[in-house]
Amino acid sequence: MEAPIKLDQNESPYDLPPDLKERALERLRALPWNRYPDLHAEELRARLARAQGWPEDGVVLAPGSNFLVLALAQAARQVLDTAPSFAYYEGAAKVAGVPYRALRLGEGFALPLQALLEGMGEPEGVLFLSDPHAPTGRLFPEAEVQRLAARAAERGWLLVLDEAYHSFSGSDHRALAQQNPSVALLRTFSKAWSLGGVRAGYLLGAPAVARVVQALLPPFCIPAHTGVVLETVLEAPGHARDLALALAAERDRIFRALARHPSWRAHPSAANFLLVRTPDAEAAWQGLLGRGILVRRQDHLPGLEGCLRVSVGAPAENDAFLEAAFALAGAAPP
Ligand SMILES: *Cc1c(COP(=O)(O)O)cnc(C)c1O
Repeated sequence: MEAPIKLDQNESPYDLPPDLKERALERLRALPWNRYPDLHAEELRARLARAQGWPEDGVVLAPGSNFLVLALAQAARQVLDTAPSFAYYEGAAKVAGVPYRALRLGEGFALPLQALLEGMGEPEGVLFLSDPHAPTGRLFPEAEVQRLAARAAERGWLLVLDEAYHSFSGSDHRALAQQNPSVALLRTFSKAWSLGGVRAGYLLGAPAVARVVQALLPPFCIPAHTGVVLETVLEAPGHARDLALALAAERDRIFRALARHPSWRAHPSAANFLLVRTPDAEAAWQGLLGRGILVRRQDHLPGLEGCLRVSVGAPAENDAFLEAAFALAGAAPP
């Protein structure tokens, strides 16, 4: 589906700056296209490891973190999840053919901590938890994440913290994962790095976990063209940092403006999107689309009746969204 204002996939609203794009293209031109890239993206993994302050043998790079989710599910005896959640955790468990269970978030999208700890009672499995959480935008208390990590270590589980949105919250679970080999992190270039189309994500974990995941990926799975783009952006990390800060400020501005809306309510978010509860998701979605704004319906998910997920766009796009949101409710502009 296309619309002039696209706020449905949590992408960056901006393409890579032209100077970075040009530098990547020059590198791509200079490469011999007849040659295979590194077997397991060794050079890129080394650069990522340096950039992240992580041991090289604990880094796995894949063409999107979705591939890492799939590999982790394939390596698991069972998959535990929260509900609602990022749809591909369940999708991957299905493809992998492993038992899957999801536990409902509580009031205010709180973690069902006790149920999750009990759920990790049986030995061995993978618990996927996005933090900030998708699609609610909630950032969980560090103490609760630490409880889950400790339980994972006790029971031979792996706690996978998906940090797809951490740049927008300033949160970072690297210290926890460094201390506890039962914790692995997933990160992506698709959001704050403005590279959704380039396809790249990575895992930071213990070497033993990285080895298992790497073995489930086919050889040469990072294409040369993805490689040159990553090399280029890793030399200019300030760009992603500044963008994440600007989008977080826009998110907070939209949140504050919606507080004055007569009937729509935004849930607090630490990500680059807002979950917005409306009286009627279908009507709201259609109304926005009629004004050229595409958002994502989430009202099919448990506990998300009436909800839309709205990505944070460029300021003018966010203004258009706010104007439409108020107009649809017959209210004066914000
Ligand atoms: C967007 C997103 C990703 C990114 O997946 P890629 O395959 O790297 O594009 C991962 N996890 C969550 C929860 C996301 O929302």
